[in-house]
Amino acid sequence: MTVWHTVAQQISAATGETFNIDAERSVGGGCINAATVLEGGGRRYFVKLNDAALVDMFDAEAAGLAELARADAVRVPQPICTGADGRQSFIVMEYIPLGGRGGLDVFGGQFAKLHRYTGDRYGWSRDNTIGSTPQINTPTEDWAAFWQQQRLGFQLRLAAQKGYGGRLQSRGEQLLGRVGDFFTDYTPAASLLHGDLWSGNYAADDAGNPVIFDPAVYYGDREADLAMTELFGGFGAAFYRAYDEAYPLDPGYAVRKTLYNLYHIINHLNLFGGGYKSQAEGMIDRLLSELR
Ligand code: ADP
Repeated sequence: MTVWHTVAQQISAATGETFNIDAERSVGGGCINAATVLEGGGRRYFVKLNDAALVDMFDAEAAGLAELARADAVRVPQPICTGADGRQSFIVMEYIPLGGRGGLDVFGGQFAKLHRYTGDRYGWSRDNTIGSTPQINTPTEDWAAFWQQQRLGFQLRLAAQKGYGGRLQSRGEQLLGRVGDFFTDYTPAASLLHGDLWSGNYAADDAGNPVIFDPAVYYGDREADLAMTELFGGFGAAFYRAYDEAYPLDPGYAVRKTLYNLYHIINHLNLFGGGYKSQAEGMIDRLLSELR
């Protein structure tokens, strides 16, 4: 019996309507999971598969999509169910035909609306993953402490375990001791964040509406979300203009964005190795020089 039997059963249970698979079509493009579109009886679903042990990762993704939907700001695929058979785990969500041309200015305004949706503490109700690395979201009232411990400190320790020592660790320790100095006159709102927004996790539906997916959700400084959009190419001037009009940024963003993107660069080092080490060290140097 294949995993598809279990998937179809769970879709039937979750939707209350029997689902029989007429066709399955593999789709490429994802970084981590095997993606398939399932069709049957005029319904279509988007499914990602991975090892059975990773069902928790898919549970967190489904919870993240549901959390983003609550803000009613940017379209996200509706999660249907998650589960596992003996060998594989899966997440099933609404299939959204992508490939329309979305207005990035519209997306900028919607992203600002997402960030106006706030929680009462930083973090989230559960941990999740960033790429395939664990991401800790223990709720905290002190943002600088959250970023220091649960973001930068966590990734730096992981890097040490993977053998990335030397300047990365010595200078990294210095920076950890001074994270609070970047927040002397700035206390961010606890905004709902996508958490992993690079251009590969954004598209437009057939009607041109922005769609975001594959989140690493938590409540935190919206600057962290915006910084990441700038990390691998950016979303274009119209996006940032529309965002800033709807929800102006603090001038300190220009410095703090390096502090935020350092998290992703050390994560990339931990996932992919190589040149990310010197990139991370350069960022740490730049941040420490800002404090002198
Ligand atoms: P991975 O977790 O492996 O990185 P993604 O969630 O990024 O996978 O999805 C891979 C690709 O599949 C995306 O780049 C996007 O083009 C497409 N995709 C993602 N979610 C949907 C969806 N709900 N409906 C249709 N296509 C989707």
